Amino acid sequence: MDDTTSHTPALPAFRPATGDCRWEGVAEHAYKDEGSAPFKAITRRVLFGDPRLACELRYFEIAPGGYSTLERHEHVHGVMILRGTGTCLVGTEIRAVSPQDLVSIPPLAWHQFRAAADAPLGFLCMVDTARDRPQLPDADALAALRRDPAIAAFLAGN
Ligand code: MN
Repeated sequence: MDDTTSHTPALPAFRPATGDCRWEGVAEHAYKDEGSAPFKAITRRVLFGDPRLACELRYFEIAPGGYSTLERHEHVHGVMILRGTGTCLVGTEIRAVSPQDLVSIPPLAWHQFRAAADAPLGFLCMVDTARDRPQLPDADALAALRRDPAIAAFLAGN
């Protein structure tokens, strides 16, 4: 019996780190299509996207002063901070984050990551391979979020 095909890896077994959260054989991609949603200074790398996995592990890096899209969706994120510092909003909670912190983003929680003004923010993000599209806040949802002064300041980048 020849089961070579099912055992053929989609990726090399080893892809060494090349320093500073970069890896051999891992390409940098745009975070999202430009103009599809608000974001600033963020890149995406797919570390594990094997179709035989039910999940993907991505590495996102936000340059100083940048931010991810404020969004929500049914799928959940498991996030581990890998480098730098910043802040994140999950639901109505804002927290400072630094390397090795773990952040769980539940279904339909508004979330956004912001790098510090003087440091990048790099993090791993695990997601289901099959997932719903992110929703962006409409004017009413934004107004509701901004009613909390701490969230208003966070969204303004302060
Ligand atoms: Mn998300």
